[in-house]
Amino acid sequence: MGSRFRGSDNVRLMSWKSSAKVVTSPEFTPEALEAGRKLFAQECRFVIGVAQEVQLPPPGRPEIGFAGRSNVGKSSLLNALTGRKSLARVSGTPGATRQLNFFDLGGRAYLVDLPGYGFARAGKSDIAEWNALIRAYLRGRANLRRLCLLIDARRGVGDPDRQIMAMLDEAAQSYQLVLTKTDKLPEKALAGIVQALEAETAGHGACHPEVIATSAETGAGIPDLRAALAAVVFA
Ligand code: GDP
Repeated sequence: MGSRFRGSDNVRLMSWKSSAKVVTSPEFTPEALEAGRKLFAQECRFVIGVAQEVQLPPPGRPEIGFAGRSNVGKSSLLNALTGRKSLARVSGTPGATRQLNFFDLGGRAYLVDLPGYGFARAGKSDIAEWNALIRAYLRGRANLRRLCLLIDARRGVGDPDRQIMAMLDEAAQSYQLVLTKTDKLPEKALAGIVQALEAETAGHGACHPEVIATSAETGAGIPDLRAALAAVVFA
């Protein structure tokens, strides 16, 4: 397949490039990949959109959160993970992009789509509202097993991402950096961004050291991300 990047190739590349203490390579076994495939092959349906703390469902089954700057490719990634064309649009009520959207995954887990942050035109009150809702959600959410913090491979980690990373560290909420749109970068440039991400994870206590590189467009890294998430759901 020539020089075309594949997610798992990149993970190995990352491991090779990095000092072993920072990143270990997620080598998923066929069983782990199969567990991920099975989990995400189940029915996934929109349950509730939450705009205020009082609407939050009580903590229950395992939850996996997805957060990132607006336009990072979050809807596309959720669609790719669940094999849907328009999962995110199922919740397409007005204001849906400003709320936490809960999706029931086969009765085993909730996928929680957090509102995108870092709009160029966001005012102070928008940012305060976002922060208040997310802090309310993170407070005491022990069943939130992992939060995927999506990073656009072309942009890398920016200040709005660092702010949410600080919030997650403070809340001691386990999170993992997931690169999106990796098909847009040549392999060499991707290696650079991966190194930059490694440096970022090292300084954040609650951040998982492994970075998963994905493309919703080509499907690269999607089986790996499914496997990683199945492992935390069934842990
Ligand atoms: P969201 O605002 O974070 O939900 O982002 P979307 O999923 O709506 O994606 C934003 C834009 O990025 C759209 O134009 C998508 O087609 C594009 N996009 C999303 N994922 C990928 C990807 O993996 N590769 C490429 N090339 N484009 C992508």
